[in-house]
Amino acid sequence: MSTDELRRRIEYFKDLGVKDLYKREAAPVAAAAPNAPAPEVVLPSLAPSGDSLIQIGEDIGECRRCRLHQGRNKIVFGAGNPEAKLVFVGEGPGADEDAQGLPFVGRAGQLLTQMIEGTAKKEGIPLQRDDVYICNVVKCRPPDNRTPEADEMEICGQFLFRQLQVIHPKAICALGSTAAKALLGGRDGVTKLRGKWHKWHDIPLIVTYHPSYLLRAYNVEAKREAWEDLKKALHFVYD
Ligand code: URA
Repeated sequence: MSTDELRRRIEYFKDLGVKDLYKREAAPVAAAAPNAPAPEVVLPSLAPSGDSLIQIGEDIGECRRCRLHQGRNKIVFGAGNPEAKLVFVGEGPGADEDAQGLPFVGRAGQLLTQMIEGTAKKEGIPLQRDDVYICNVVKCRPPDNRTPEADEMEICGQFLFRQLQVIHPKAICALGSTAAKALLGGRDGVTKLRGKWHKWHDIPLIVTYHPSYLLRAYNVEAKREAWEDLKKALHFVYD
């Protein structure tokens, strides 16, 4: 790989806010003597020309890049319309998703389907779950459904970023704080971020509560707010 190509990729990482990877990958270049040939560094492809969801799936392969592979049954890549105008990003697969290899197919998934289709119907927007695209920050189930750790999010995040760039939807809906953190950075929680538009690169992004959070009986107000957020997203995308 040429030094120019390496620099281009490092800039790409930096631009995405993947700071730790940037530091790690930057080291070989910084350490080289002024006229020494560029070291051979194999970096993951970040925005290959002609990238596609199929290519991303192939690059993920039988991934062992982080510890999450140890407990997984199936990689949960994502599902839905590859040309969706709206993409939902969750945290990571749970037990049902891990068993089926599909995102949001358990209880939280049923609620997400109801939220999407119910809100769309009420608002007069002809939309089914299959019309949108749904994926997660990490593609393997974290043990005991724990929150993904920073390095797991960083490693798997590169594939999420590629998925978003390939689909390039009109808007992204981040479900819960892990997705919000992966896409927006920062430390703010959902309560602070929700209800207003942010951006992931040039794509408008809205944050709302994760359906698992909404399943807890006491979250009546959060449920109402999530419906409002979704209404806002649907009208923005489909009006
Ligand atoms: N929770 C998530 O964040 N993602 C899924 O796919 C299922 C549950």
